[in-house]
Amino acid sequence: MVDKQLERRIGQWVREKRGEIVGLVSELIRYDTVNRITDGTERDCQTFVAAALTSMGLETALYSPEEAPGFREHPAYFPGKDYTHRPNVAGRWKGRGTGSGKSLLFSSHADTAVVAPGWSASPWEPREIDGRLYGLGAFDMKGGLAASMMAVRCLIELGVQPDGDVTIESVVDEEFGGANGTLAGRLMGYNADAAIIPEPTNLAVCPATRGGALWRVTFRGKTGLSFSGETLINPLYDAGKFLVFLEQFERRRSDSPGPAPWYDEAAALPVIVTRAVAGDIAAALCDVGPERCDVDVWVECYPGTSERELERELTEEFASMFPGAPLPEFVKLIRFLPGCEVSPDFPLLPLLAQEVRDVCGTEATMKGAPFACDAFMFNLHSPTPAVVWGPSGANAHAGEEYVEVESLVLLTEMYARTIVGWCGTTGRPEGEMNR
Ligand SMILES: [Zn+2]
Repeated sequence: MVDKQLERRIGQWVREKRGEIVGLVSELIRYDTVNRITDGTERDCQTFVAAALTSMGLETALYSPEEAPGFREHPAYFPGKDYTHRPNVAGRWKGRGTGSGKSLLFSSHADTAVVAPGWSASPWEPREIDGRLYGLGAFDMKGGLAASMMAVRCLIELGVQPDGDVTIESVVDEEFGGANGTLAGRLMGYNADAAIIPEPTNLAVCPATRGGALWRVTFRGKTGLSFSGETLINPLYDAGKFLVFLEQFERRRSDSPGPAPWYDEAAALPVIVTRAVAGDIAAALCDVGPERCDVDVWVECYPGTSERELERELTEEFASMFPGAPLPEFVKLIRFLPGCEVSPDFPLLPLLAQEVRDVCGTEATMKGAPFACDAFMFNLHSPTPAVVWGPSGANAHAGEEYVEVESLVLLTEMYARTIVGWCGTTGRPEGEMNR
């Protein structure tokens, strides 16, 4: 039974706490938690999150991913990372344990992308301008983390304890395909009947995520000036053909829909050449062609596509477009991120759609996320089905990243209501209803 009075109190509490929501995200932004690929600096931020969860009354643990049982042996573990100063945080709010309530987990990452060009002020100095909160990680994804923390605080302060457990976790090392922090959380046993990942989705409910690979694609040649008639091969011409191919490959794939039901509309499926390097760029002049050309490229894919299939698709289509061109070598720069999805009849989905309808007054957008993230650690490697659902904003991984404050307020309200709806409140004593 829907408790209208409780819903009203949640809405009112969240509105009154708008300033505190902004304050919490701002506090998180001030910590430099840039992912440094093999290392990171999340510790101080994670200590702050742990203290906040403890002060709310949650059973909180700050632990190194290395402590997770079977961490390094797990097939989804990706080596080469240093977790010395990078603890995960998990806070568990015990439910009433009536046996009837389902459990829920909010999983965020504390690390941010690197500082991209285009910032007009310090990325770690939050600024609220016209309803937008600017700062590195505001959108991806400290805003969502703060919303989940405030949602739990809301219910605690309203005296509502759900039947099932609610867990909030903040993991390290998600950017650059890290995902080991998320793996560690699963191995530590922080699993639930459902997980919500508050990555930025502009409030769309995303039951699926894309996958992707970041490769270094290398073409080799022979350099010199051919004084003795040596055959020279300039790898730039082959790399150039490959670049022309990639542009067409992206266009072709973006014209066709992906797998139903979450990606059945044609949408841009990015192929991003992130870097192309050839020749001695440190030298004042070059009078010969390069020995090799490296093209770094990020290629996204839909759920169900494996790393091998994606690489085969690229090489076969390149070979058919440019017959006779040498096939390049592929070296993986980060882990392959598989796409993933939850079942269309996952019972959390209609509940989330209902929350969007009730709180935002619009029909929920329910579709696959237009990005890859660590949701696969849940959906492919744990018993916990995960849905991505987070705030509105823009410029993730770019200068002037911001989150829309109103969307955080709405999200906090919807998260709190989702806890009530999913975890149940049948154990609530009489009288509490009217407090
Ligand atoms: Zn993210």
